[in-house]
Amino acid sequence: MKAMVLNRINALKENPHPLTAATVPAPEPDDNEILIQIAACGVCHTELDEIEGRMPPRLPVIPGHQAVGCVAAVGPDAKGFDIGDRVGVGWIFSACGHCEACLSGNENLCADFLATGRDVNGGYAEYMTVSAPFAVKIPEVFSDSEAAPLLCAGAIGYRSLMLSGIKDGQILGLTGFGASAHLVIKLARHLYPDSTVFVFARSEKERIFARELGAAWTGDILTPAPQKIDAIIDTTPAWRPVVEALVNLKPGGRLVINAIRKEGSDKEALQKLDYPAHLWLEKEIKSVANVTRADIQSFLVLAAEMIGYPPG
Ligand SMILES: [Zn+2]
Ligand SMILES: [Zn+2]
Repeated sequence: MKAMVLNRINALKENPHPLTAATVPAPEPDDNEILIQIAACGVCHTELDEIEGRMPPRLPVIPGHQAVGCVAAVGPDAKGFDIGDRVGVGWIFSACGHCEACLSGNENLCADFLATGRDVNGGYAEYMTVSAPFAVKIPEVFSDSEAAPLLCAGAIGYRSLMLSGIKDGQILGLTGFGASAHLVIKLARHLYPDSTVFVFARSEKERIFARELGAAWTGDILTPAPQKIDAIIDTTPAWRPVVEALVNLKPGGRLVINAIRKEGSDKEALQKLDYPAHLWLEKEIKSVANVTRADIQSFLVLAAEMIGYPPG
């Protein structure tokens, strides 16, 4: 089969084409696995962290963790899927299923968590395999390419919003307005119709887009918000936005950092961290790690509901 393969860690500035188009043997499903013929696979910022080695992948690896396609073969013990079913695979490829984290619903924190396209081959290929319990059915209302980014940007956005602890009527802030945040704003407006959303983004284009999607106020990362905010979700790869977001939080407010890795280029911003201005009054910082299958499934159901499906 054809696949895009990452063979070594690259600095993108030196090598802007780090993946190699290759012909490799197609995988065969193990007993409890399904084989998926990939129709679409989303592209994620996390892949830059893999390629540049901030989060080293197994090498060589086929990246891609937002894969959608149809089941092409079913292992003898794989349950729940038939040939032709349309399925997706997100960042969670597998977790052990029996540790404390897995048993308490936090399989995203399992020490044996395997990530699709990092620890095992992912969806930048014609075929991939996954164990059946970790594949999700795709609601028919979405096309393949519409569904793919929902599997990561959408699902992790959903997890971030849940971890923010926001309640209807409270003010939500979004710092950075990319693939995940533009889905989170839609989700927040669906789940918390009386909440106000403020968006901090670097480019005017992103700020205009945010206002089109219902942001009540937008500003640059450095602009103070017009009111203090109950919870802020940061999706930037940098540190300065973290420090600035803490200033904008209400007492007792929570900053959720939805980033698998931060880049180091502005790390000196952390030296500006001032305890009374940024952290005192019980402000909290929480990171988001990976996703669970339940995050992906819950978000797909909500996303379908938001566009009026199932009808009636
Ligand atoms: Zn991703
Ligand atoms: Zn586990």
